[in-house]
Amino acid sequence: MTDTDVVRRSRGKSKQKNWRRAKDAPTAVIRLEVDTTDPVTRRQVEKLFGATWQLRRALQRQAGTRVDAYWAAGRLRSSEDGPKLARERFGLSRSSLEQAAAGHVDRSGWLGRHLTKALAMHLADEVWETVDRHLFADKIGNRHGRPRVGTWWASTRIPGRARSHTKPNTWETFRLVGSLDAYRTTFPAQRPSRIPVPARPPGLRGWWDYDGPLTVVFPGAGPRPDLVLPVRLPHGPAKQSRLQHFLGRPQVWHKIDLVRVEDPKAPGGWRYYAHLMILDHGWTSPSVREQRVAAPRDRVGGVDGNVSNLAVASMPADPTAPGGLHTSMVAVDDVQRAAAEQVRLTARRRQRALDRSRRNSNPGQYELSKRQQKRATRRADAGLLVRQVPTPLGPRVANAAGIPKQAYRRDRLSAAYRRRRAEHAAAGRSGTQAKQARAQHIARTVVTEHGPNLVVEHTNIRAWAKLWGRGIALFSPGMLIAALKLECAVAAGQLLRAGTTQTALSQQCPCGVRAKKPLGQRTHRCGCGIVGDRDVVAAAMGACVQLADPDQPGTARINETLRAALAARIASTGLQEVLARSTATTGTPPRVPAGTAAPHQRRGASAEQTRAVTTGRTATPDETPRKRRPRGNARARKLHAVDPGVELRLNS
Ligand SMILES: [Zn+2]
Repeated sequence: MTDTDVVRRSRGKSKQKNWRRAKDAPTAVIRLEVDTTDPVTRRQVEKLFGATWQLRRALQRQAGTRVDAYWAAGRLRSSEDGPKLARERFGLSRSSLEQAAAGHVDRSGWLGRHLTKALAMHLADEVWETVDRHLFADKIGNRHGRPRVGTWWASTRIPGRARSHTKPNTWETFRLVGSLDAYRTTFPAQRPSRIPVPARPPGLRGWWDYDGPLTVVFPGAGPRPDLVLPVRLPHGPAKQSRLQHFLGRPQVWHKIDLVRVEDPKAPGGWRYYAHLMILDHGWTSPSVREQRVAAPRDRVGGVDGNVSNLAVASMPADPTAPGGLHTSMVAVDDVQRAAAEQVRLTARRRQRALDRSRRNSNPGQYELSKRQQKRATRRADAGLLVRQVPTPLGPRVANAAGIPKQAYRRDRLSAAYRRRRAEHAAAGRSGTQAKQARAQHIARTVVTEHGPNLVVEHTNIRAWAKLWGRGIALFSPGMLIAALKLECAVAAGQLLRAGTTQTALSQQCPCGVRAKKPLGQRTHRCGCGIVGDRDVVAAAMGACVQLADPDQPGTARINETLRAALAARIASTGLQEVLARSTATTGTPPRVPAGTAAPHQRRGASAEQTRAVTTGRTATPDETPRKRRPRGNARARKLHAVDPGVELRLNS
């Protein structure tokens, strides 16, 4: 047989139709911590992330230049088929970006030692998404900006490819091998501090024959060795059913992404995780499931979101059913306010330290402060030696337009600076997580008591944030309302948004009278005799709102039958008290890491106990218009200065 007889064989095109995940199929993700205490393994992961970043950056640059060429070729694009021709000509398609990625791996021997073509092409797909969103408008005609080049710090995720669900043992890039049972038998007692890296089983099938504890593997090829990352699981008895749900059934495993999170305490400064996606719903604890099933679906409720508290009121949906008006108030108390202030001060100190450190490392980029300048002039006049200033405290050296002469990213940064910055970011992350957990918990308790059919005013929370800044960051009503929406949906209900102009809930009285009240007036007092907390009355009015189209806040109207029923409930059963006093929502809030500024519901009151709200209450500290010089951008200042009535509308 000579060389010419050899015919190149290839698989050819796939005859079978590709497997696709159904669009509405449920998916859920579990975060698995991988052990990188082994220095060789850690080096491997670091190199992998380095290579991915280099490749991603190259692809993002290419995407940017191709898009620029596309927009520059106006004449080519002007004809009917022009845009398509231009896209073809400048390589603006998924496949040509994939080809570019494969080309990079081919040409660079170094890249090939750390990643595969499959991974590179998958990365190209991700970059293509940004190009796609830039070139093609979405349903409402919005387009994203030009694809940008990301930074090293933002390059934190390596997307893996999904496992094949039609062919056995086909899982490119990262795969999960081993079993949960083997993990439990190997580490029965407690969470191991260090897990030995398992060796690849001998034989052709390699890792498919592995039956040890769970491990994430990126199989090697050619010069590239296997990347083996042992998984470390939590050991608490409460966690086990969740682990069983995600890890006990290998048939639902779908794909794995490798993710890193900056952590100054971890060796190398990064902690690594595998995000495993399964083709199933997420796990819900039995108690939460019971709570959701028990949520009263025959009630209608209203929510009045405010910058410092959340009032909820609900009543039976049937107007003829007597009584049954419930109210709750979720608010920030003084202890939480003090804790949040402490956290804010710590963060502020850290920021100042970061600023000092940057100035020390780049003294040439900052001017002297006025005081420092004065001192230098005085010394010069007195004929004294010129003193070196280690920390110039003036503004950044900039051109006439105020643009810094040197970009901030070109600054020299010390190791201590990077460490402190990472600490700062980690503290921010844990604070956000705690707030989210808190919001989820509050949402669940509200839905358990008031049912999943709630109405909230359709207000612009971003405008609140501009006006109130710090106060809103403490309570995060936006996060809370998002959590409520989700919780209502999973409990087979809906959180509806009602337009403020159509309903004006804070101006209404259950008797039918409508009167404006200033924001500082916290008590609702009407000629009909109804007296109550302003927010609670507004929430109760929210329970009377109905929408012609649930997706259109503008179609919200107050249902007169429900309003009459509400007035009757208040009058007949002496429930007027309920409006002035509100029961606190109950339940033990989740544990929150120390040093976080999460608001939580009032404690120390059960469902039976009621908390008297002093009716003569003045504006809560967060709601008084700020006396000190308003910060933030010019737009926010303008809103604040020109039209004080804006506050009323936004918070009504
Ligand atoms: Zn009235």
